[in-house]
Amino acid sequence: KRKVYQFGNKSADGNSKMKNLLGGKGANLAEMSAIGIPVPPGFTITTEVCTEYNKLGKEAIIELLTEDVEKSINNIESIMGSQFGDSENPLLISVRSGARVSMPGMMDTVLNLGLNDEVVHGLVAKTNNERFAWDSYRRFIQMYGGVVLGMKPKSKDDIDPFEEIMEHLKEKRGIELDTEFTVQDLQDLVYDFKDAVKKRTGHDFPADPWEQLWGAITAVFDSWNGNRAIYYRTMNGYPADWGTAVNVQAMVYGNMGDGSGTGVCFTRDAATGENVFNGEYLINAQGEDVVAGVRTPQQITKLGSQRWADLAQIEEAERVANYPSLEELMPSIYEELKIYQDTLEKHYRDMQDMEFTIQEGKLWILQTRNGKRTGAAMVKIAIDLLKERLITEEEALLQIEPNKLDELLHPVFDPRALKMANVIAQGLPASPGAATGQIVFFADEAKMYKNTILTRIETSPEDLEGMNLAKGILTARGGMTSHAAVVARGMGKCCISGAGALKIDYKKRTLTVDGKEYHQGDWVSLNGSTGNIIEGKVATVEPILSGEFAELMTLADKYADMEVRANADTPKEARAALNFGAKGIGLTRTEHMFFEIDRIRAMREMILADTVKGRKHALEELLPMQRSDFEGIFEALQGLPVTIRLLDPPLHEFVPHQLATQKELAEDMHISLAAVKNKVAELEEFNPMLGHRGCRLGNTYPEITEMQTRAIIEAALNLKEKGIVAKPEIMVPLVGTVNEFVEQENIIRKTAEKVFEERSEHIDYLVGTMIEVPRAVLLADAIAEYADFFSFGTNDLTQMTYGYSRDDASKFMSIYLEKGILKADPFEVLDQDGVGQLVKMGTERGRSTKPDLKVGICGEHGGEPSSVEFCHSTGMNYVSCSPFRVPIARLASAQAAI
Ligand code: PEP
Ligand code: MG
Repeated sequence: KRKVYQFGNKSADGNSKMKNLLGGKGANLAEMSAIGIPVPPGFTITTEVCTEYNKLGKEAIIELLTEDVEKSINNIESIMGSQFGDSENPLLISVRSGARVSMPGMMDTVLNLGLNDEVVHGLVAKTNNERFAWDSYRRFIQMYGGVVLGMKPKSKDDIDPFEEIMEHLKEKRGIELDTEFTVQDLQDLVYDFKDAVKKRTGHDFPADPWEQLWGAITAVFDSWNGNRAIYYRTMNGYPADWGTAVNVQAMVYGNMGDGSGTGVCFTRDAATGENVFNGEYLINAQGEDVVAGVRTPQQITKLGSQRWADLAQIEEAERVANYPSLEELMPSIYEELKIYQDTLEKHYRDMQDMEFTIQEGKLWILQTRNGKRTGAAMVKIAIDLLKERLITEEEALLQIEPNKLDELLHPVFDPRALKMANVIAQGLPASPGAATGQIVFFADEAKMYKNTILTRIETSPEDLEGMNLAKGILTARGGMTSHAAVVARGMGKCCISGAGALKIDYKKRTLTVDGKEYHQGDWVSLNGSTGNIIEGKVATVEPILSGEFAELMTLADKYADMEVRANADTPKEARAALNFGAKGIGLTRTEHMFFEIDRIRAMREMILADTVKGRKHALEELLPMQRSDFEGIFEALQGLPVTIRLLDPPLHEFVPHQLATQKELAEDMHISLAAVKNKVAELEEFNPMLGHRGCRLGNTYPEITEMQTRAIIEAALNLKEKGIVAKPEIMVPLVGTVNEFVEQENIIRKTAEKVFEERSEHIDYLVGTMIEVPRAVLLADAIAEYADFFSFGTNDLTQMTYGYSRDDASKFMSIYLEKGILKADPFEVLDQDGVGQLVKMGTERGRSTKPDLKVGICGEHGGEPSSVEFCHSTGMNYVSCSPFRVPIARLASAQAAI
């Protein structure tokens, strides 16, 4: 099997379809080279080798690769006209990771590899730039030391060992910036760095370029199993066995004087989706200088600079606006770059995020990928590409990541509240959205309050977990392509970056703006769309959905052949669901209607009642409440079906555990406190999730089923009088035996008949069951003799199939995910291998009795894209999910049908 793939000089062994094998970066480099884009030559070691490496270890892998790698280095040498390890005309290389999906900043990179005490003189001679050569050598030792030799800070209070040496020298020399170092300083740093390596690791820094190369290649493989990468993988559900590829490539330099530079550009606006070429660059700099946000980058286009000028008032914007754009500074390079961005977008038929370097007047494209974007940009770009006829309707739908639609559906600041807001500073609008929270300064403290704003000078990949937990991210430094900005946009998290007016003191945990001090725990609000930082809390309102969003949803419905309903318990939720395009209610959990204070009392009375008479008395109180709830929901739905589930409470959620409440209840019920306590003790269950719940309740207390049926039917008849059609579908929960269902069905039908007689009026209704106990799956053919429909309750079905308690699984779930024992949390993502078999079997057995049996799902999985796709494959009629997930499910349903 081929282990190494070469690219460069407008040809390549691989192509963009080989992402699994070459990683995203490697596959794209190959493709770009093949279509004539000037990429620095190099080669890719496959992801399969990474998996082998994990099995065989370092020595064996080096032996396996040696011949191929040597040949490939020769090829680079001949294209670049220089030699690896040569002291007169040296070739320097980069070594980077590249998994099949982009994992920004999660894994390691080594640049300037191949330098040593002799080679550095070659670089001096070749570039005629002593300072640059020694600075490259200094950077190389620092990066290699950190990545390969483990010379990193050990904790957040620890300082980077190399930075420490540099700070020392700066102090001694009385200077502040890296750029003030003289050649002599840089030479001293190199020797001090090497000393530090020897002291800390016990070994000399490797001078042999080949030893350096193997060290870097194996370190990249190791970084796949580093903490950061593992966390990122778990968060995104990427399996451990994907592995990473290693890309080895000729270095090109953006820091060889004023004719050189480096930058990042996007073919469209990653925040809004607008079709404008944009990006940032720095003259005389290396790639990481742009991303790290240490210097303020300049705009690529004239238009970009103008927009900054418009943003104005803020120092940062003015500075950006005053620097010349690339378009003005290097017009011919800009024109060339513009042609490539156009070629690449047309070739990949999606918005591209490109990195480039200009080395002494020659433009190199370092990488391109489908750009990360906000949810809003994702929708606009897909619809625009469709209108530009670059992609088909099907491709537009498939280009949407359903889960990202979530970002568009969440609240924004109330414009009226914003008018009164006290804007304390402005930064860059790095990722849109509205966030209100309490200030914290460290990523590992993002959990300290319920809503936090992670406030940092700048962020790094170590902060990822905290960024994910925080409501919003605020940084004092960094541009639109800084780590914070890129990661936040990917997460769909509100972020403001580069707010230069903020003075952050980590030690004192304070944030100072214009002389006013804010402390940890103080409330601030971020407007990620304008970059405004606001003092205190700001009210939010529901978002207004864009025209493109509506177009996308219409397109989704055109292709989808499976309906989407919503789980909704109140008229308000039902209306929200309809707004998002639900075609009915797939689950109303009636027990949720009793959580209100005046109702819970009646509910408790019913639960604690000793006699049928006592229970009936409490139920009589509950009847009118339920009836009016149902009327509200039926009215909201205007003739669309509403599945109402009979009471299914884990009873312990309702019994009073506090003494005061028990006393009150005793008085209300005219019984002794001791009697209440006795009853509470009696109801105590060892395993409430498997206890007296579901239809077990209706079968032991049939009067509950009677009351609920009466409330449903009366509500429907009341609406009929007003000329509104109501379509109730009464659903029996937690059925495991045929008789459990038949008993309940009889009560329901008898009660309904009775109400019809009383009112001399009639409506149509269905009686069906949830399938959530494995035994119900096995007997689905028998149950279907009686049931009008099935709805899979995959929350309980997952619980009972795995034997994981829904209430307790979180204790071991994270460990299972980390270790790879489970690939995803089965309560979030339907387990297609196991639970999925039951869903398939239940549907088939049910339909073997009733071929047109209506089947749906109402567990949490009904709004999770991969699960929706699975449901489609089993031939379900509908999925039902929470209102905010309805658009996601509609899109997933369309994607499943394509
Ligand atoms: C289920 O079990 O999947 C379900 C929808 O019911 P609940 O979550 O209310 O138990
Ligand atoms: Mg259930």
